[in-house]
Amino acid sequence: MSHYDLIIVGSGPAGRAAAIQAGKLKRRVLVIDRKDRLGGVSVHTGTIPSKTLRETVLNLSGWRERSFYGRSYRVKDNIAAEDLKARLHMTLDHEVDVLEHQFNRNHVDTLHGMARFVDDKTIEVATEAGEVTRLTADRFLISTGTKTYRPENVPFNGRSVVDSDEFLELARIPRSLIVVGAGVIGVEYATMFSALDVRVTLIEPRETFLDFIDRALIQDFTHQIRENGVDLRLGSAIERIEDASDHVEVSLANGRHVRAEMLLFAAGRMGATSALNLAAAGLKTDHRNRIEVNRKTYQTAVPHIYAAGDVIGHPSLASTSVQQGRVAACHALETPTLPESPWFPYGIYSVPEISTCGMSEEEMQERGIPYEVGVARFRETSRGHIMGLEHGMLKMLFSLKTRRVLGVQIVGEGATELIHIAQAVLNLKGTVDYFVQNTFNYPTLAEAYKIAGLDAFNRMPIPEAYKVRRDAAKPETS
Ligand SMILES: Cc1cc2nc3c(=O)[nH]c(=O)nc-3n(C[C@H](O)[C@H](O)[C@H](O)COP(=O)(O)OP(=O)(O)OC[C@H]3O[C@@H](n4cnc5c(N)ncnc54)[C@H](O)[C@@H]3O)c2cc1C
Repeated sequence: MSHYDLIIVGSGPAGRAAAIQAGKLKRRVLVIDRKDRLGGVSVHTGTIPSKTLRETVLNLSGWRERSFYGRSYRVKDNIAAEDLKARLHMTLDHEVDVLEHQFNRNHVDTLHGMARFVDDKTIEVATEAGEVTRLTADRFLISTGTKTYRPENVPFNGRSVVDSDEFLELARIPRSLIVVGAGVIGVEYATMFSALDVRVTLIEPRETFLDFIDRALIQDFTHQIRENGVDLRLGSAIERIEDASDHVEVSLANGRHVRAEMLLFAAGRMGATSALNLAAAGLKTDHRNRIEVNRKTYQTAVPHIYAAGDVIGHPSLASTSVQQGRVAACHALETPTLPESPWFPYGIYSVPEISTCGMSEEEMQERGIPYEVGVARFRETSRGHIMGLEHGMLKMLFSLKTRRVLGVQIVGEGATELIHIAQAVLNLKGTVDYFVQNTFNYPTLAEAYKIAGLDAFNRMPIPEAYKVRRDAAKPETS
């Protein structure tokens, strides 16, 4: 029976980062994944495929050029599912190739099969061919992520009623699409397919959506997606989903009916832990099959077993999973590392993009923090004119007491890239003065930071030290 320093179950972002870290520390490390291709949900059904699809849709549809050339402008006519899938497969193959190379270079062993605990020090791996291997380790990391939530009353058929994994196998682009669930995944796919001129109805049982985002931003976003053709139905509880031969029909509790060629059910995900036999290792899960951990070390209730990534719940992002995996591996292998920064960004790759970091205005109010707001519209920037941007907004929140930036919210082109400027200022405890003092490249969308900074600065009390003394302003002589 082989013995390892660290056995990792799941090769998604958390498992991958942990494995490479362990390899760099020259420890014996093994990654087990039930899928024959490494990379996890992130590479095969989540982050990378959805972002590749989005990029392909925006490129082929000519979306970014339409404000200049009209709504009917296309880079390619009659875009078909094959057009979307071709680029998808190329990107995924490349991602897997890079990952395999990273594992090889760092001497990370891999094993394909379904893992389950035998006891807290032993794991059993069953291959599809029926072979079973037993392995032991000093430490374990569970990074098995999540799987789609498939309630029994949804008539999934892999063709016209699908979950977000099956959606990627799209045989053809439907003329109309119902998306159930206005969470991040639902909003991304709904707006992406609306950009392809598919008639999209986005149904959300609750009255609000994306509640962790600033309401002013959501108002702007809602206005834009409705203008782009998404029929957003909030507060619409679903009574029944019926799969007729040529369409899908959703009956809503308010008595209305919605019909479409296809339905994407994107309301929730569950921890992928049911096959792990966690009880044998002394572990339990919550009502969504997720594992509780110490959020600093990522140790579970059994200290030599760690868990990281989506399997531990919020925030369930590839970006944060990478951080968690690396921190968990360092702790497990008794290697010092830096604590994680307090503020990480959320990126929602809808059309238009949304990205936020720090607090929303509602959160500032709840916490009773006196604040000032600075807002910039992308159309106020020269780069915005050049790009033909009609929408886009950047909003920053500053503490009136300390002048520190405490929250940034962006909706519009490039939001997920732009956010990192604010993230750096936030984590380095910078103030509104940073945006006023510093010069930004011109013309750029980043200039919106300067505009929003000045907007707030001009309304904030001026510190005594900043006040101008006329007699001090003498011309310098050389
Ligand atoms: C449609 C969609 C879009 C997304 N977009 C983004 C985005 O834009 N940005 C972002 O940051 N995040 C995004 N996410 C979230 C992101 O994909 C996840 O946060 C990330 O994949 C979680 O990584 P993980 O390390 O927890 O493992 P995962 O990527 O979930 O991988 C887990 C792996 O464990 C394996 N496994 C499970 N059980 C077993 C077992 N018993 N034995 C062996 N192997 C097992 C699985 O086969 C899988 O390969 C998106 C997710 C989805 C679904």
